[in-house]
Amino acid sequence: MSIQLRFILTYISIVFVFIILLFLSGFLIFFSITGDADFVRKLYSHSYEYKLLTPEEENAFLDLKLLSEKKPEQLLRPETVKKYEFENIDIVIQKNTEIVYASESIKGENLRKYLPKHQKSKGNHSYQQDMLRIGKQYFTYINLDFPFSNQEKGSIYVLRKISPYVGIINRIFPFLIFLLLILVIVIIGFLNYLVSRSIIKPIRELKEAAEKIKQGDLHFEISANSKDEIGELTQAFEEMRQKLKSSVELQIQYEDNRKQLLSSISHDLRTPITSIVGYVEGIQDGVANTPDKLSKYLLTISTKAKDMNALIDELFLFSKLDLHEIPFVFKKLNISAFMESYVQELQFEMSEHDIDVLFSNDSLTTLYAKADAEQLRRVLINLTTNSIKFMDKERRRIDIVLSATESELIIEVKDNGAGISPEALAHIFDRFYRAEQSRNSNTGGSGLGLAIAKQIVERHGGDIWALSKLGEGTSIFFSLQKMNENGDTHEEDIVN
Ligand code: ADP
Repeated sequence: MSIQLRFILTYISIVFVFIILLFLSGFLIFFSITGDADFVRKLYSHSYEYKLLTPEEENAFLDLKLLSEKKPEQLLRPETVKKYEFENIDIVIQKNTEIVYASESIKGENLRKYLPKHQKSKGNHSYQQDMLRIGKQYFTYINLDFPFSNQEKGSIYVLRKISPYVGIINRIFPFLIFLLLILVIVIIGFLNYLVSRSIIKPIRELKEAAEKIKQGDLHFEISANSKDEIGELTQAFEEMRQKLKSSVELQIQYEDNRKQLLSSISHDLRTPITSIVGYVEGIQDGVANTPDKLSKYLLTISTKAKDMNALIDELFLFSKLDLHEIPFVFKKLNISAFMESYVQELQFEMSEHDIDVLFSNDSLTTLYAKADAEQLRRVLINLTTNSIKFMDKERRRIDIVLSATESELIIEVKDNGAGISPEALAHIFDRFYRAEQSRNSNTGGSGLGLAIAKQIVERHGGDIWALSKLGEGTSIFFSLQKMNENGDTHEEDIVN
């Protein structure tokens, strides 16, 4: 059974139980007032318009009835009839179609129009009880038809004033019941609409969403329209879909990366292997027939083997970084001291190659970064290696600049090398990307140096970007999270 049907059945049963309880309590109230458990049957046998006679009405009626049987002519005398009147009890005597007596309060009215017809079918001394309206006033009445001595038709009406509402309600009672039923249907419909809108519809949407996920479709969105449990469920479902989607996308990306890595490994390793094989065959065939030639061949083989080794190391490192398999140990690092020490080391190495290395620190105070020193060193090595690799000027120079903003530290590695074309600049951080000029110049790069640097910087919560002018030089910038003396980052400072 659907939830919607269950709800409708629940509403219907609630309404019916309510109606039954209403009737039951009504019955108990009437029973406690009348002391007559049979009143319901009587009520129905006398129609819904049944009205109980008051004792005054009953007495007046019985006296008049007696008079109509014994001395009907007495009823033609107003002073006799008047005696039977009480407050709220009016009397009308009719002879044939003529009103021969009417109480003061209803006298002026055109009574003939309002009084019921003589009960021909029921014969003499038959009486009836009912309700009628005279002018704007409602009455319950008891009416007796009798014959005068000369067999002319006579009628007695004993009327009691009732509230006009009773009359109206009596008249519209069936209509009221009908209205009540309509109201019940409308209420059930309305409740059902509310439940449908707030429960059934979101559940249906969730079902459709689950169906889509089952079929592997994760490209949709469902949003919660309420803050209740259903809303929370929808929200949780949406979060689950998003996580599932990104995990599937990540899986696809890993798969792509793996394929790309494999094809790159086979491509990049084939060239040195082919040339090593060539040199080995040269030695075997006796082409390296002099000790000088032989030592040249062996030196080339050894260089190619070392290149291959370095390439394999880079590929491994990149793939491990890509799969988040390298643990990062973030600490409060005195970046000012760290950079100075790195630059000194580099200056020492570069002095042999006649390359100037300059360091400038914009800040007067000691700066701290949230960083993994070993990984940061790897970034600097990759950047400076590129600067050295693509140097083409006579006077070769590398500038390393450390600066700070309110929340970040920015490190720039600038060279006066070959520069990068604007088209290539957009791709240098892509894995395996090598700009044309670097391929031609046989710099022997894997195209992974900057991709590795990017991975590491992003793991630090920073950014990496480049500015370059072809022929003039290149600046690679990267940012790190700044730490204060206490070891808090700017974000933590704000939170605290
Ligand atoms: P590679 O191993 O080829 O150096 P990288 O990822 O480190 O790979 O660099 C990608 C490409 O970006 C390089 O092939 C080169 O064309 C360009 N590039 C990077 N740094 C520089 C630089 N300092 N000067 C000129 N070109 C650079």
